[in-house]
Amino acid sequence: MYDKNNIFAKIIKKEIPCNLIFEDEKIIFFHDINPQAKIHILGIPKTEVINLSDFIQKCGQEEVYYFFKKIYEIVKKFNLQKTGYRLITNEGTDSNQEVQHFHVHILGGENLGSLN
Ligand code: 5GP
Repeated sequence: MYDKNNIFAKIIKKEIPCNLIFEDEKIIFFHDINPQAKIHILGIPKTEVINLSDFIQKCGQEEVYYFFKKIYEIVKKFNLQKTGYRLITNEGTDSNQEVQHFHVHILGGENLGSLN
């Protein structure tokens, strides 16, 4: 069940601040408080969904498309398509998802190493 008091819900409600990149009525993008790369951005839909499974099951094509299209626009805003970038979303126990509101990490600005 969605916890209305998770940290990202509080950011959406402006109860706690964030280093904002982009916001409209549907989505918000901001810098991660503990960056794991030179550029580490978090993108979230404002809808109350916990993870990707929840997002895909509860939201329509238009909302899903709008969110992922905006990810690409943010990638371009930071010129990451030129040098490369990595998208991550964590879900479930094995991923150690910390904040229980669906989000995508956008990492870049330096060589991120290999996953293997
Ligand atoms: P997760 O493990 O859930 O995929 O990642 C959660 C991310 O949220 C972490 O990278 C963490 O640094 C970030 N984070 C946690 N609390 C805050 C906060 O209050 N503000 C911001 N901007 N990021 C946060």
